[in-house]
This record gives sequence, C-alpha cells and structure tokens, in this order.
Amino acid sequence: MPETRELIEQRLKSLLERARRIDDHRRRPAPADSEEQAADAETDEVLTGLDESTRQEIARLRAALERLDSGDYGRCVRCGAKIPAARLAAIPEATSCVKCAAGAGG
Ligand SMILES: [Zn+2]
Repeated sequence: MPETRELIEQRLKSLLERARRIDDHRRRPAPADSEEQAADAETDEVLTGLDESTRQEIARLRAALERLDSGDYGRCVRCGAKIPAARLAAIPEATSCVKCAAGAGG
C-alpha cells in the first residue's frame, strides 16, 4: 500500500516539523541524566515539549509504518478482522476495526 505509506509519512513529517518548531521555542537546558530518554532517537527528544495527544499520534503513525513493514497493516489488533478501507482512509493509523474501537474506545 504505497499510497497509505505516503499518507502516513506525510502526516508524521508535518507533526515532527511542528514538534521541531515548538522545540525551538521551548529550548532550554535539559537534564542530561534522564534515563528514559537517553536511549531514544533524536526525534524523540524533540517531542518532549509536545502535548500528550500529539506525541500519541506520532507514536501511532510510527506504529502504523511498522505494521506496513510487517504486513499487519489493516488488520484489527483486537479481533483480527480486516479494517475497512474507508476507515483506514479516514484514520490511516487505525489499529482496530470500527466495532472494537467503539467497544474499547481506541
Ligand atoms: Zn476488531
């Protein structure tokens, strides 16, 4: 699904660009001793200034790209059903079908 990948990558890119801008604004000396952040990639350090929802969306988009790579993309993580194309078009990073998303809020 090359189109889907492009869509997700574009979204991810724009979020990361926004993150970078926010980071430029909020740049300040960060403690170098944070164990959790030490192991992560440079993009993650950009995200520290972002609000939770943006970080979660970035994480979901990254997960979706991984699922594209592994071939799991488009399958519900809860019940294994195929996620309808219309839902994926609306929410490319969706990991569950409509039924499961409605039942579990995610
Ligand atoms: Zn499901």
